[in-house]
Amino acid sequence: MSKVFNKKIRDLISKINRAFRDFHMLSDGDKVAVAMSGGYDSMSLMLLMEMRKSLTPEKYDLIAVHIIGDARGPYETPLHKPLIEWLESNRFAYVVSPMQISPTEKLPMNCQRCTWNRRSTLFKIANRLGCNKIAFGHHFDDMVETALLNLFYQGRMATMYPCDTYFGGMFSVIRPLTYITKKEIESFAKMNNFPSPPEDCPRSATSRRKMVSDILKIADKDYQNIRWNIFRSAINTMKLAGEIKIYDDTNEPNDEWGNIEEMSSHNYLKKL
Ligand code: SF4
Repeated sequence: MSKVFNKKIRDLISKINRAFRDFHMLSDGDKVAVAMSGGYDSMSLMLLMEMRKSLTPEKYDLIAVHIIGDARGPYETPLHKPLIEWLESNRFAYVVSPMQISPTEKLPMNCQRCTWNRRSTLFKIANRLGCNKIAFGHHFDDMVETALLNLFYQGRMATMYPCDTYFGGMFSVIRPLTYITKKEIESFAKMNNFPSPPEDCPRSATSRRKMVSDILKIADKDYQNIRWNIFRSAINTMKLAGEIKIYDDTNEPNDEWGNIEEMSSHNYLKKL
């Protein structure tokens, strides 16, 4: 592993640590279900969270949960075999399940219903596995896009919660990649030879999110801090509204991590 590689991993894990500190995402003894779409975001999340384990005194368990299905229904998308091979080659614990939908659900679903059903399936599986945390691979650019979507279509400045509780505290949903950009994830994926992600859902290309993403690309050319300003504005607005608590927003990512080369062995895990 080259020094450049080490430095990049160190930076990414520092950003995850910053998110953990700022939003109190993780505690000793947590059991975390990691939502795996098979895309680079969720694979990066799983691998970085695993790498981090050997560098922190916190003990936590990770289980990848892959939900199959999209707007057309639970069985219309084939199992993404490269993802399963990747999980097995890394000896990650994982569960694969079709999306559970009601017999009365009208197909194809819209994005809202599809998201709801996927999430509901994920929560049920996490509960069955005894997980108290569910980690999503949403990254910094997702947070910025969501802030703009909320502004454009709901007239409010807010983004996804970096950490939020559900069902009276039974689960916390956490987003450890909150400070990591899409570009950083793509670079990490390339360095680790991640397999190709599954084909995008046909709806994703026409979504409002894609439109907002295109607007941001144009804005980037005018001012490099636009995304960070949108993110900060959304988080600060949520903080002022009492929707989230920032525990520590002054710390810069630090360099407290040990030798990254020591963390390559994954010597546990069973297939559930
Ligand atoms: S983009 Fe496709 S898979 Fe994703 S929520 Fe929308 S319909 Fe479901």
